[in-house]
Amino acid sequence: MKKNNWIFIWLISLSVLLGIYFLSNDGFYSVPKNVITKEINNTKPENLSPQYKPSTDINNQKSPEDLKNGYEESIAVVLPIPGEPPISLWRPPLYPTPWAISPNDHFYFSRPIAADEINWPLANYRYGYFFPDSDIIHTGIDITARRGTPVIAAAPGTVIWAGYGLYYGTYNEEDPYGMAVTIEHDFGHKDKKLLTVYGHMDRIDVQEGQRVETGTKLGIVGNTGFTTGPHLHFEVRLETNSYFRTRNPELWLSPPQGWGVLVGQLKSIDSQYINLKEVYIRNIETKQSWMVLTYATNNINRDDYYKENLVLSDLPAGEYTLSFSYDGVTYRYDFTIYPGAISYISFHERTGFSNELPPVLSPKEWDNIVLTDDFLP
Ligand SMILES: [Zn+2]
Repeated sequence: MKKNNWIFIWLISLSVLLGIYFLSNDGFYSVPKNVITKEINNTKPENLSPQYKPSTDINNQKSPEDLKNGYEESIAVVLPIPGEPPISLWRPPLYPTPWAISPNDHFYFSRPIAADEINWPLANYRYGYFFPDSDIIHTGIDITARRGTPVIAAAPGTVIWAGYGLYYGTYNEEDPYGMAVTIEHDFGHKDKKLLTVYGHMDRIDVQEGQRVETGTKLGIVGNTGFTTGPHLHFEVRLETNSYFRTRNPELWLSPPQGWGVLVGQLKSIDSQYINLKEVYIRNIETKQSWMVLTYATNNINRDDYYKENLVLSDLPAGEYTLSFSYDGVTYRYDFTIYPGAISYISFHERTGFSNELPPVLSPKEWDNIVLTDDFLP
C-alpha cells in the first residue's frame, strides 16, 4: 500500500476513537457528576422570549462626558431575565458552609435547591425590589424551579413552622407565603437567632419540631400563595420568625468556589439612599454584564454591617466596571471581585466612590425597619 493510504486509514481510526470518547464521556469538558449534569432548556438564550433577549443598544446610557473621555464602547446590557445571563449554566461547587473570610461576612447557608437545578436568585425580582406594578416589597429571593423540585434545608436546625399561614400567624390558605416552612438554625449571628423561610411549596414533608440537617428535603417547589408561577421564595430572618426581621439572602448563601459577591451603598448629595437605580456591572475580561437595581425603598432591612442598598451575588472572580447615571452624570468605577469574598463599594454624590469598609457597629446599634404593612413575599 502507498504511504498516503496508510496515513488516511490512520486518520479515520483516530476520528472514530475520538468520536467514541466524546459520546461516552460528554467530551473533554464533562463536568463533575455531582455538580450540574442537566441542561435547563428554558433558559438558553435562543429559547427566551424576545423581550428577554440581551440587548446591546444602550446608546442612551452614554453621557457627553463619556464620549469626551473616550468611553465609546457600549456596555452590553442584559435586560432582566429569569436567572443570570445564561452564558453557561455550569457553576463551580459551593464553598463549604459556614464560609466567612472576614468577620463581617456570614455565608452560613447552602442553597435551598440542589446544584443539579438553577439555584441562584431570579435577577429581576431580588430582595428589596417592588413587586411588579405595586409598592409591595420583596423580603427574600426567588429561585425559579419546576414544580416538584425538592426544596432542601439550607443548614441544620429545627422546623418551627410548617404549613399555611406564615404571614398571618394562623392557618390560612390565602396566606401570601402559601405552604411554607421556617427553620430555626442551630447557630445564630452575633447572639441573635437565625431562621430561614421556604415559601410557595406544593407539598411539605416535615413537621413542626422536627430536626433537619443541611440538605434534608422539606417539600417540593410549588405555586401556592401569592405567586405568578412556580418558584421557591427563600428568606433569611434574624432574631425572630417575622418578615420585619429579614436580611438579604444573597449575603448569607455560600458562593460557588472562585466566585464572589458585590455589595454597594449608593447615596445622594444629601446622604439619602439612591433607591431603585439601574446599575450596570460588567466583567472586563469576559464582557458578561448584569443590571442590578438598588433597593426600591428605605423600608427594607439592610445588613447590620454593610448598610447596603445593592447586592449582586454569584460573580466570577475578576476585574469589573460598575456604571450608572444619576442627576445627568454617568459614573463609572473599576473594582475587583475576589473568590469567596465580599467586595464593598460605596458611592456618595459629594465625594464619589470608595472601597473603604464601613466602621464596625455593636449589635446594640443595629437597626430594624419601621413596621409597615407592605411586606409580602
Ligand atoms: Zn419571593
